[in-house]
Amino acid sequence: MSYFPLFADLQDQPCLVVGGGEVAARKVGRLLQAAARVTVNAPRLGPQLAARVSAGEIHHVAGEFDPELVATHILVIAATSDRDVNRRVAETAARHQRLCNVVDDSELSSCILPAVVDRPPIVIAVGSNGRSPVLARRLRQQIETWLPDRIGELADWAGGWRDAVREGIDTHAGRLRFWENLFDGEAARLILAGRQREADALVQEALERNAGHETDSHCNDGVAWIVGAGPGDPGLLTRRGLQLLQQADVVMHDRLVGSAILEFARRDARLIDVGKSPGGPASAQAGINDQLVELVAAGNRVCRLKGGDPFIFGRGAEEVAAVAAAGLDYEVVAGITAAIGCSATAGIPLTYRGLSGAVTMITAHRAPEVDDDIDWSLLAKTSHTLVIYMGVKRLPQISRELIRHGMSASTPAAVIENGATDAQRVIGGQLDNIADLAKAAEARAPALLIIGDVVGIAARIDWLANPDIKYSATTASA
Ligand code: SAH
Repeated sequence: MSYFPLFADLQDQPCLVVGGGEVAARKVGRLLQAAARVTVNAPRLGPQLAARVSAGEIHHVAGEFDPELVATHILVIAATSDRDVNRRVAETAARHQRLCNVVDDSELSSCILPAVVDRPPIVIAVGSNGRSPVLARRLRQQIETWLPDRIGELADWAGGWRDAVREGIDTHAGRLRFWENLFDGEAARLILAGRQREADALVQEALERNAGHETDSHCNDGVAWIVGAGPGDPGLLTRRGLQLLQQADVVMHDRLVGSAILEFARRDARLIDVGKSPGGPASAQAGINDQLVELVAAGNRVCRLKGGDPFIFGRGAEEVAAVAAAGLDYEVVAGITAAIGCSATAGIPLTYRGLSGAVTMITAHRAPEVDDDIDWSLLAKTSHTLVIYMGVKRLPQISRELIRHGMSASTPAAVIENGATDAQRVIGGQLDNIADLAKAAEARAPALLIIGDVVGIAARIDWLANPDIKYSATTASA
């Protein structure tokens, strides 16, 4: 089941708490913080609630649970230690269509109270759909420690500038951009450091600058951010890449970029899947370039999100060239290329003292207009690590050519499929059987082929004893 998160205005609203002990007292405390009008129904009250009654903060209806009370309250909390009573409260609330929370009993509850980080006016609520309240509380503590102390002041201060910003900047998109720059920039940093006067001066200045800008009709804020998303794990996205992805108006992404990474995009960002299938038509790239240029020229901040690194077999440079030729702005953000990401997660070091002092990365798939000009004899003579991208389909041909040109048939080799993702598989073998092993395992793109003595290290160090990594260390020699 999935719950609907909601912040409710309970000011002066009648709320009923059934139970008079410590647990009830905690819930009453939270309701009073929201300025609710609280009635407690219980035969006896503990000292905390009794004190609140004497102070006139809450109303007490003495006695066993009285079902008559429910209909006149908008929210009911059952906090007795008797599950039968709690169940009766919940059933009565359901009959009257009142929301009811039964403390620590999500089964009986029609609503649950989240763990809360309260830095007025900022409130962060953490819930687990009732699955693990303890985990939700721990997350709340982590957020507490990570959140700047003055985050509430920042929100209040920004609220104070809202009218002036609305007056000074005409368009919704312009205001959105203004606020984003502000929260990323110096003014916000000053507020968090408690220096409001300087922050105010900066905002005033920015608004004046903006006013000058908007009369300049040639001004275009559009930009292409060519961002490498890494091999799959969202943890392998760079901080700069994440920042830009979060700001983008439009995200043009490859097929290889997983949904966990796309989650970081703004909720209102337009997502465009421009994924090409392996060996897809070359014209697809021209189409992507045109679309990118068009979007940027129209003033969008476009995050062109690419698997791995944009400049390693990624055609990122062609996109940059197109944007630059149109006289538009761009920035390139490096990503972790598949070879680097997969080597770490598969436990295969690309270099290793005494075994391999160099790495060659090649692609087995060439643009159709380029002849197959791979120099097999040169590659076969390398005694260092070879990483081959886009090679699964051509595995038999690759190993045959390398062996034919003199590489030892027993050279360790591994295929890493979906590296650095939850679906990673590592198939280990040697040059003369890796094609058959990969076929038997039905290895599919995206997959990387690593050839060289370093592959043997993986088996030797036994990193792959990690049960999450399915490695068949057949004949890989150490
Ligand atoms: N720019 C990308 C490469 C794009 S070419 C980069 O720097 O990684 C696409 C090829 O990359 C795939 O066919 C595959 O060989 C490799 N690849 C990309 N992601 C991969 C992954 N998670 N696991 C294994 N191989 C991957």
